[in-house]
Formats: sequence, structure tokens, C-alpha cells
Amino acid sequence: MNDCVFCGIVAGRIPSTKVHEDELTLAFMDIGEVNPGHVLVTVKPHAENIYALDGRLAAAAFQTAARVAQAINRAYAPEGLTLYQANGVAAGQTVFHFHLHLVPRYNNDGMRLTWPAKNPPRVQLEVNAARLRAALE
Ligand code: AMP
Ligand code: ZN
Repeated sequence: MNDCVFCGIVAGRIPSTKVHEDELTLAFMDIGEVNPGHVLVTVKPHAENIYALDGRLAAAAFQTAARVAQAINRAYAPEGLTLYQANGVAAGQTVFHFHLHLVPRYNNDGMRLTWPAKNPPRVQLEVNAARLRAALE
């Protein structure tokens, strides 16, 4: 994936500020950080989004995310920490190589994700869950 920015970072063709690296993952500073200590965790092989991850890559990504989140907590002691992960333009994805954002958070830091809860009746949740269970089979 020659035109992928994060493949370029993994390969060392594009500069980055690394925090952690192992066989399957790389954690580096987000160039557009929202707060100091904002880290991106990516998988080394090109995978466009979460749908492209196998179990091994998914496990590795979350293991690194937990480890780096704990380091952020020790280093910055933020008031909170948000994991943000976007798949597709509609979800806000701008770099199409899977990554997780680890964002240290503070009260009134200006970061916002609106959450228009619909609170449907239980019967609707049952319908939605049945659809997903069928898709899992
Ligand atoms: P997303 O909207 O979840 O796809 O986020 C992509 C993130 O990648 C943004 O927060 C960018 O600031 C960040 N980003 C893009 N290019 C680079 C780069 N060369 N080095 C570090 N972070 C980058
Ligand atoms: Zn890539």
C-alpha cells in the first residue's frame, strides 16, 4: 500500500514519533493531537478498517491500546481517557488504515461526540439483537 500514510510510517518512509512497537502493532503520537499524550495505535499490516482485522491483529491492537492507555494514565494522570476508532467516512475516518485513538481527557477540553440516544422499547432491542446473532453465525 504505497499511498497509505500509516503504511509509510510503519515502513519508516514517513517520519513519526513512536511510543511503542512490537511484532504486530505500532503506537505513535497523533500529529494533530487533541491533548498532550494523544496516541494512535495501529496494526503493522495494511488493514483498512476493523472489518479487515483477524483475531490475532484485533487482539494485538487492543493489548497495545490497554498498555499504552495505562502508560498515559501514569504519565499524565488525565481526568479521563477516550478510545475513539472510526470506520468509514460517515464515522469520521480520515486515514484508511485501522487505528485506535487514545485521547487523554479533561473536563471542558472541547472534545465532543454527540450521542443522540433513542431509548427504543425492549422488543426493538430484541429484533436488533436477533439480526446480529444471525450475522454472527
Ligand atoms: P481518523 O479520523 O480516526 O482516521 O484519524 C486520523 C488521525 O491521523 C488524525 O487524528 C490525524 O491527525 C492523524 N494523522 C494523519 N497523518 C499523520 C501522521 N503523518 N502522523 C501522525 N498522525 C497523523
Ligand atoms: Zn496502510
